[in-house]
Amino acid sequence: MFLTARRAHAAHADHTAGHGAAAVLQANVAEGAAAATTPTTGRPAATSGSKGAATEADALLITITGGDKPGITAQVAQILAAAGVELLDVEQVVVHGHLILHFLVGLEGAWEHPLLKDLLWRARALGVEIDFDVVPRQTRSLSATGPRRFAVTLVARELGPAVLASAAEAIASHGFNIDRIERLAQGRLCSIELLLSGDESADPRALKAALVEIEGRTPVDIALQRESLLRRSKRLVVMDMDSTLIQQEVIDEIARVHGVFAEVAAVTERAMQGEMPFGEALRQRCALLAGAPESVFATVLERIELTPGAEHFIRTLQRLGYKTAVVSGGFIQVAEPIRQQLGLDYAFANQLEVIDGKLTGRLIGPIVDRARKADLLESMAQAERVSLESVIAIGDGANDLDMLDRAGLGIAFCAKRVVREAADTAINHRQLDAVLYLLGIRDDDLRAVGGAG
Ligand SMILES: [Mg+2]
Repeated sequence: MFLTARRAHAAHADHTAGHGAAAVLQANVAEGAAAATTPTTGRPAATSGSKGAATEADALLITITGGDKPGITAQVAQILAAAGVELLDVEQVVVHGHLILHFLVGLEGAWEHPLLKDLLWRARALGVEIDFDVVPRQTRSLSATGPRRFAVTLVARELGPAVLASAAEAIASHGFNIDRIERLAQGRLCSIELLLSGDESADPRALKAALVEIEGRTPVDIALQRESLLRRSKRLVVMDMDSTLIQQEVIDEIARVHGVFAEVAAVTERAMQGEMPFGEALRQRCALLAGAPESVFATVLERIELTPGAEHFIRTLQRLGYKTAVVSGGFIQVAEPIRQQLGLDYAFANQLEVIDGKLTGRLIGPIVDRARKADLLESMAQAERVSLESVIAIGDGANDLDMLDRAGLGIAFCAKRVVREAADTAINHRQLDAVLYLLGIRDDDLRAVGGAG
C-alpha cells in the first residue's frame, strides 16, 4: 500500500545484541536519509530519478507489531511528543491480542533526531517489533479521510476466504482501497465489514453491480453503503409486517380460518399480475371475509410466527435507544397485539370493520397502501424529530417500495426481485437481526448491552 523509499527493520535488533544492533539500524536509516538530504537545509530533497530517495513531501510511517499490552501506545506517543514531530495520522488494530499500531509523522528532522533510537529502545523494552517506512505524504489522505468512503458488509451462514477474495478483487478492480476489515459476527450468521476509500476514479455503481454478481453465485448478502457518521446514527426502524416481521400473510390466515382461502388467493394473484390496483384488490379480498366472527383475530394471532431473529433484533434496537414501528397493509387487529407483545413504539395498518361481533368485509379509514406507508414513515420521523436519513425501512413487497426509497437506508428483506433491485440493499437470509450488521454493530457490542444471542 505504501511506497517504501527506505526500510529499516528493527525486528532484527530485537534478536541481536542491543547497543550494536540499534546503532547499525540507526546507521542504515541515517544512510538512507543522507542520500536524499541536501547539506544546506538538512531536509530530504526531491531528487528525482534517484529511486529510494525521500522527497520533501515525505512522511515517516512507524509500524509497531507484537503482543498487545496496556501502555504501548502511550509510551510510543510520549516519545513522539518529546521529539516534537508533527503527527499526521495514527491507527491501531488489535486482532486476537496481536497489536498493529501505525503512527505517521512529519519527516522533517526526524532522521537526525534521537527519536528513532529512542523508539528502537522502547520497542525492545516492550518486546514488540518496530518498522520504519518513508512514504509520500499524500498516501494518508486516501486511507484516512478520502472524500469517497464506503462500507461493504458481507453476511452469510459461513464466510470463507473465497467470498472475501471475490469481494476484495471486485473492490480493487473498481478503484477502491480497503482501509480496514473487521469481523462483526461469527455465530448463527457470520459477518465481515470492509471499509473502503477511493478517489474520483472509483465507481461505486460499478462496484455495486460487481457485488450483486457475487451475491448471485454465492450464498452471501453483500451491502454497499456510503460510509459516514449517519450510517451508524440511525434512530428509527420501520418494518413491514407480513413476510417481514412475521412469517405469514395475515389476510391469507384469516381467509384460511374463514374457509375462503382459495377465493382470496385468486384475487391476490390477479393483483400481483397487475390486473387491478392494490386498493381494489384489498377491498375485494376483505369483502370475502364478511361474516367471520371477531374471534378470528385471536385464532390467527396464535398461528403467527415471528421471523427468526425478530425478537433479538427489536430487543437490541430498544436497548440501543432506537424507536421501532410496524407499518402494514394488513390489519391493525393483528398488528396492534404484535406491537404490544414486542413493545414497538408504533403500529399502523388497515382496520377491518366489526359490527355485532362479526367482520362486515369493509375497511374503516384510509387504506394503508404503498403511498401511505411512505407518508406514515415520514410522519413518524417528524414526530420523533429525526431526519429521514436516520430512518431504516425494511420490507419485502411492492407496496414497501416507496417507504424503502424514502428512508435513509431501505432494506429489501427476503424480497421479490423488483424490490431487491430498487432497494439500497438486500438481505436474503431469513434472519431479521442481520440488519444489525449493516449498521456496523458487532456481536461484541451486543454482548456489552446484554443483547447477544
Ligand atoms: Mg410484506
